[in-house]
Amino acid sequence: MTPAEVTAYHEAGHAIAYRHFGNRIRSVELFDAGGGFTCGHCWASQDTPLRKAMRSLSGPASEYVATGTVDRDHCRTDLENAARYARDGGIRLDDVWPEALALVDRYQHDIETVAEELLRRGRLDGAAILRLIGPPRTPYRFRDATSWQSPRWAAG
Ligand SMILES: [Zn+2]
Repeated sequence: MTPAEVTAYHEAGHAIAYRHFGNRIRSVELFDAGGGFTCGHCWASQDTPLRKAMRSLSGPASEYVATGTVDRDHCRTDLENAARYARDGGIRLDDVWPEALALVDRYQHDIETVAEELLRRGRLDGAAILRLIGPPRTPYRFRDATSWQSPRWAAG
């Protein structure tokens, strides 16, 4: 996978988390330098620490599913943010990671669709993403965290 492809899957992971939780997506963008950016809008009433942490981890989780690893430098900000949100909510980050993986797993097809279009166009706004993959469908259920393996980045 090229760096641009990894970034596209990472950003698509964030995007499907925004879409899933009913948060508005402003845009998702790939930069020439190899980075990317997902800009969304969250409503305070829906902004529980768990959701915030899952939105942060959904990028690294998508990257993990696509490549089998998480680039700690690339994901530093996401991981730091997720850790802060988890701490704020009294949640263990190790319990959020499996939830993020489950979310990414559930929407793998949508992630591929968004990532491929993002690679073609470089930037997608929220409306374009919803045209591609549609609005949120069924509510997400919090599943048993112990049924998933621990992330590699937690060990090192
Ligand atoms: Zn990210």
